[in-house]
Parts: sequence; C-alpha cells; structure tokens
Amino acid sequence: MTAMTVIIMILLWVLYFLLLGTVYGWTVKSRMQSLIYEIAYEAPNENFADTAVSLAENADTAMVVYRVEEKTFTLYAERQEKNGVAHLFDSADVLALYEKTTAGDSLFQEHLADALSDGPFSPSQWKGRLLSSFVTQTPAGDVYFILLDTAVLPLHAFLVLMQNQLSLVSVILLAVAAGMAFLLARHIASPIERISQKARKMAKGELAVDFTEKSYREIEELSEVLNQTTDELSKLDRLQKELIANISHDLRTPLTMIVGYAEVIRDIEGENTPENIQVIIDEATRLSSLVNDLLEISRIQGGREERKDERFDLALLAEETVERYRRLKENSGFTFTFEAQGDCTVVGDKTKLLQVLCNLLNNAINYSDRNRTVRVCVAAREGAVRLEVIDHGIGIAPENLDNVWQRYYRGERNHRRSVMGSGLGLSIVREILELHGARYGVNSVQGEGSTFWFVLSQESAVLSPERI
Ligand code: ADP
Repeated sequence: MTAMTVIIMILLWVLYFLLLGTVYGWTVKSRMQSLIYEIAYEAPNENFADTAVSLAENADTAMVVYRVEEKTFTLYAERQEKNGVAHLFDSADVLALYEKTTAGDSLFQEHLADALSDGPFSPSQWKGRLLSSFVTQTPAGDVYFILLDTAVLPLHAFLVLMQNQLSLVSVILLAVAAGMAFLLARHIASPIERISQKARKMAKGELAVDFTEKSYREIEELSEVLNQTTDELSKLDRLQKELIANISHDLRTPLTMIVGYAEVIRDIEGENTPENIQVIIDEATRLSSLVNDLLEISRIQGGREERKDERFDLALLAEETVERYRRLKENSGFTFTFEAQGDCTVVGDKTKLLQVLCNLLNNAINYSDRNRTVRVCVAAREGAVRLEVIDHGIGIAPENLDNVWQRYYRGERNHRRSVMGSGLGLSIVREILELHGARYGVNSVQGEGSTFWFVLSQESAVLSPERI
C-alpha cells in the first residue's frame, strides 16, 4: 500500500514539474496559431479591422495589424492589453519582425525576448510574452502584417506553490497509507497468522485446537470450517483407535477358537466330529470376511475404485441374492420375502451393487431380533429404481442414524459374539452408492427394525456412453 502511494506520488510529481510547463507552452502556442489564422481569414472582408479587434478581444490578447506597402507599415487595427507591448514597437522593430516572418513560412512564433533581442522595453515587460506574427495577402493584393502579443503565465511561482502543497499532500498520503497498512495488517493478516499457527499444530496431530478467530466474516467462516475439520478428524481418530481395538479382539477370538478346536481334535480321541470341524470352518469364514472388508475399504480409500457399468435388471439380481440367502439361512429361522414392481433395469456396476445388497442383507441378519423376517422390495418409478431392505431387528437409536454410515462406526461397543462386523460394511455401501450418484438413507425405530434404502437412476447420470 505504501509502495503504491509512493508510485502515485512520483507520477504526480513527474506530471506536474516535468510536463506541466511544456504542455502549457504548447497549448498557448497552438491557441495563438489558430487565432492568427482566424484573423488572417477575415482579411479580404470589408470590416476586417473591426472583426480582427473583436477576435483579439475575445481571446484577451494584444494585437496590432499593419497594412504593408513597399515595406512601409501603416497601422490598420489595434487592440491593446494591460501588459501588452506590441503597440510600443517602433518601425525598426516592426520591420525586423516582418522580415523574420516572411523569411519563414509567413507564421512566426517566438518568445518576445528572443524575437527582438535589443528592444526598447524593460526586461519585466519582455518576460513571459509570446509573439506570434503572420503576413497575409488578400486576393485584391492588400498585404497585412498581423502581430499578436500574448501573456504566457509565469509558471515558476505556481510550480513552487504546487511543490509545497504536493509535499504536504505526499506526507499526509504516506502517513495515511502507512496507518491503513498497519490497520489492515492487524485486522486481516494477524488473525490469519494465528489461524495458521494453530493449523500447523493440527498438522502435527494435535487435534484439540480450537479456532476462535472471529474478526471478520471470511475468517469466521474459515474458523468454522477448521473447527468442523478438527471435529471430523478427532471423530475419525477415535473410531480408528476403536477399530484397532475391536479388530484385534475380533481377530484374536476366532484364531483362539480355531487353534483351540484344532488342538482338541488332534489330542483327544473321538473329538474329530463334524460339529467341531464346523466351528473351525465358521471362525475361518468370519476371519476371511473381516479381512475382505478391510481390503475393500482400503481399495476405496486409495481411490482406485472405478465403475464397470453394464445394463442389468436390479430386481433379478436382488431376487437371486435373496434366494441364496434363503438357502444359506434356512436352518437359522430366517424368512426372506421379495417383491418387485415394474421394469427395474439400471445402468451400474453389477458386482459393486451386489456387494451393497449383501452388506445390507448381512446387517439385517446380524442385527435381527426375535422376529427374523427380512423383506427386500424393488420398485421402478419415474426413471429411478428404489431398493429397500427391511428388517424387524434391534433398530438404531435416532442419535446414531447419521453415524452408521461413518467408517469404523459400530453401534454396540460390547457387541454380541454372533455379530462380527468390522464397522466398515455401511461405509462401503455409502462409497459405492455415491460412486453411482445414488440417493440413500435409513429409517429406523429402535426395537422395531430398520429400512435401508437407495434410489438409483435408470439412466446413470455420470455415465460415459462408451461404458454402457
Ligand atoms: P458392522 O460391520 O459393525 O455391521 P456396518 O458399517 O455395516 O458395520 O454398520 C455400522 C453399525 O450400524 C453397526 O455396528 C450397527 O450398530 C448399525 N447397523 C447397521 N445395520 C443395522 C441394522 N439393519 N439394524 C440395526 N443396526 C444396524
């Protein structure tokens, strides 16, 4: 800001002191040139003398017009002005000027002091006067010698005055600029500096920082966003720690069971029963599904996920999946029902959407209660297909409805042995649905059950044509 003020000041100084004098001189010269041509233009007219005088009067300049005959000059018209000296020229001066004028291209303009080097006037009269002279001849053969004598204001005093004023203005402007720069720095830069110090702490993993800067709207918004970020990061940090605790527990339990049962089978005769082997198989299956979830989420996190779109019937896929689950859970007392409505063809990644369906069905089974009925409904309406997985399980508390989509979130800390989730299932569902631009959500009443749903556009919005 101060630099800008200095630049403006320099420009002003240059304009005033270097250009003003020169430009002013040019302006007066060209004004007189136009005037003298205007007067000369009137020469052939009958009332030339009067017109010339009134033109000189309008321009407020001294003027003398001579009629020239054989180098004798007869005064023809005259307009005197307070400081004008043209009417004081003697015949030698007039002749000298006439010769200078005719020697050029009949217009002669010079400062009086230079035009008549040894005139009879006092220097103060000579100073600062511009002499313009012109010789014109009318068609009738009359020759007129027109002399204009104009004041060119002495700019020196004016410039000194301006210099003083400009110096004062410059000092005031610099002071104002410095003051404003200081205020701006205090109001804009300091809060930013304080915020970046805290953000640096945050980058080092210190998440307990609070952004409180509120000096102006933008900073307040930035503080708010950063506070939200620290909240999110703290939440993620906590969930991640919980996950590690949970996963190590989840990994340890099946591994202990597998080793335990295997040792029993090895060491005790008659324990090699299909039931005991089944326990080992079940635990190993749990382990592998946990590892699969972890792999899937790390793939998604790494951003390596791409959609391999195809056109397929979502209702058919859902029906087949429900049928598989029905067979799988036949003996566990689960009832699966399936309903479809309309043409449920969609464009999307079939494998990934199958995973969404499986994750939702697994949850419906895992969080079931005494009523073990699971309903899957698919319906096409207005260019979109809505799929719902409805269970009558334990439900979700209203305050946790948003959390279930969070990575690593698990409802029950001391989860039941039978529920071996990793806390990643729904976040995988969310990532896949968002990859498809689908809307999704959950309605749930604690103790009554939950409905997980998503709506997929039949003509996938973010689909490139070559992938169909
Ligand atoms: P998890 O592997 O723990 O099941 P999810 O991401 O699939 O992880 O689900 C996160 C949490 O959401 C679960 O721990 C559970 O508390 C809750 N949840 C998910 N589905 C249901 C459901 N159908 N009924 C009740 N709670 C559910």
